[in-house]
Amino acid sequence: MNPICIDKNEILKRYKPIDKHTHKGIQGHALLIGGSYGKMGAACISSKAALKTGCGLVTAFIPKCGYEIVQISIPEVMVLTDVQEKFISNITFDIVPQAIGIGPGIGQELATHKAFHELLKTNKVPLVIDADALNILSQNKSWLSLLLPKTILTPHPKELERLIGKWNSEEEKITKAISFSKNYHLVIVMKGAPTHIINGDIIYENSTGNAALATAGSGDVLTGMITSLLAQSYEPINAAIVGVYLHGLTADIALPETGYQSFIASDVIANIGKAYL
Ligand code: AMP
Ligand code: MG
Repeated sequence: MNPICIDKNEILKRYKPIDKHTHKGIQGHALLIGGSYGKMGAACISSKAALKTGCGLVTAFIPKCGYEIVQISIPEVMVLTDVQEKFISNITFDIVPQAIGIGPGIGQELATHKAFHELLKTNKVPLVIDADALNILSQNKSWLSLLLPKTILTPHPKELERLIGKWNSEEEKITKAISFSKNYHLVIVMKGAPTHIINGDIIYENSTGNAALATAGSGDVLTGMITSLLAQSYEPINAAIVGVYLHGLTADIALPETGYQSFIASDVIANIGKAYL
């Protein structure tokens, strides 16, 4: 069970340079679904990170109370709102996204469970599931069979435990994650220090990132970045690998400017471009 190290070589094999004839209509449209009253920042962070990772268009689907917050904080992002003021209850949209990311700041209202279930029943596009959307999935494990093959799950250790159960050693954690990935044909991004990505029997270990990422919102940035790469037609495993590597590399580049203590998730977003250089 030797992991493959995600280093610059692994990225260069997968990286898709931007075609000079591209335009925003073919550069990928990412839909980020998240936010609830008091947690609209998570929706802003994931949407902005998606745009800064290169897709052409981003739409945020959020509860009504977030409308002005998102429009004012990220004017480049388009906004669709739920009928409910404070949480998501019914996910309907008339756009055609190439990828969807769901979870940052979404909360766990019962109506949100139902809306997520309906989305899973009808969804046809590559999907990233994070944060409370993972927690909702953990409470409704029968929904796992609705997920399209190679759906990407991005749990931190507590979210992973809710999905696969407790483990007693690092080895047992990996074994359990492999069977989970194989049973449901999923890509599992096990966030941590370091992050491991599981794709069936294959394990990858990331080589970038640092402890400054142990701060609010850094996972929401990653969700936006991976969703953006999926929208740009990266295969799901490649979107996960490139996203995780760039997220960590950006944190390594940004760290000297802030130091560990003052580093915040917005520092990752502001520096994504430098990781691409
Ligand atoms: P979340 O807990 O969802 O906000 O995600 C945290 C993100 O920061 C994940 O991508 C983790 O891999 C990363 N992270 C957190 N702590 C560390 C650490 N000590 N070293 C490296 N990466 C970290
Ligand atoms: Mg998180």
